[in-house]
Amino acid sequence: MSDITHKGQCACGDFTYTCAGEPASVMACHCRDCQYASGSAFATVAFFPAASCELSGSSKVYTVKGDAGMTVNRHFCGNCGTPLYSVLSEMPEMLFIKVGSLDQPDSVKLQGHMWCASKLPWLKLDDGLMQLPGNPPL
Ligand SMILES: [Zn+2]
Ligand SMILES: [Zn+2]
Repeated sequence: MSDITHKGQCACGDFTYTCAGEPASVMACHCRDCQYASGSAFATVAFFPAASCELSGSSKVYTVKGDAGMTVNRHFCGNCGTPLYSVLSEMPEMLFIKVGSLDQPDSVKLQGHMWCASKLPWLKLDDGLMQLPGNPPL
């Protein structure tokens, strides 16, 4: 593990976090569930081992069945509504942190696109990154 840390918070500052090391992956997720959760065409998510993250403050959570049938617990700030991270009940050892909540969102590099089967048709991807129809192998 490198000594790089990534810090982030919600817009109002009620919730803050620190993740040690580099994310295992950084993906743009175009699934319907992430479209709801982001209010946009896709969510950009950094995969961090839960053990490397320190969370501080309280978040609210709602639970949905994700597009792959897994149980997705989506955490957001109860005060300002910033989407913060999600965790799968089936895979609690990984946190999926919303890249937009990082203090420095440009400190992590996008590695690919997932759930392109539900990508919005007006969005043209020309970044040369992988485009997976569904979930990556984890
Ligand atoms: Zn907040
Ligand atoms: Zn998704």
